[in-house]
Amino acid sequence: MSADSVVSVVVLYPRLLGTYGDSGNATVLCRRAEARGLGSRLLTVDAGEPIPRSADIYVLGGGEDVNQTAAARGIEKDGGLAEAVDNGAVVFAICAGFQILGSPGLGMIDVHTEAMPTRAVGDLVTTPDGAELTDDVLIGFENHRGRTVLGPGVRPLGRVQRGIGNGAGDGADGAVSGRIFGSYLHGPALALNPALADHLLTLAVGPLPAAPTPDDTLVGRLRADRLQRIGRGH
Ligand code: GLN
Repeated sequence: MSADSVVSVVVLYPRLLGTYGDSGNATVLCRRAEARGLGSRLLTVDAGEPIPRSADIYVLGGGEDVNQTAAARGIEKDGGLAEAVDNGAVVFAICAGFQILGSPGLGMIDVHTEAMPTRAVGDLVTTPDGAELTDDVLIGFENHRGRTVLGPGVRPLGRVQRGIGNGAGDGADGAVSGRIFGSYLHGPALALNPALADHLLTLAVGPLPAAPTPDDTLVGRLRADRLQRIGRGH
């Protein structure tokens, strides 16, 4: 991508799907683009507002059950997200946002979510499933009662080391289907998982400039601290 390129990132429905500050994922994507000398545009779209058709990346976050149903209805009625995905947009969706992309919901990825008997609450650490992610582990937390079963052709985003993730008994967390990424890594997970952020950026806009690069010293310390606190040692 050329240095005068602008990455556009849409936060979808943060008032309905923003319980855990997941919109911070969009901030991380923009900051990491800017640290490389690229431009960035962050757009927040709430329910009832038109969803842009031509942005590069769309992020969706976690939310309450009632809110997630309302969000699914609004996104379906608008049609903009589906059109953007057909045009090659990248989607990163967390928990409720992830669930509504499947069934019941928008049917954009082949995953099905139902209720678990107990809530999954706590730290979540996974090993990235695809070789394209250079971080050895993805780190975050989870708070959900949904159990998500992956259909054929959809692969996990990560393999659970600590926590519950999808909770479907296959040790998976999240899903990857084309350019759609889902996960139970709540909150602004990309802040702690820069390789995943950069992977999403690369998919959206092509190879990132080799220099300058973001200073990830603090992120590295935070990741080490978190892993130590969780008890994985490092
Ligand atoms: N209501 C959904 C669940 O409990 C989503 C929760 C969330 O987004 N954290 O599974």
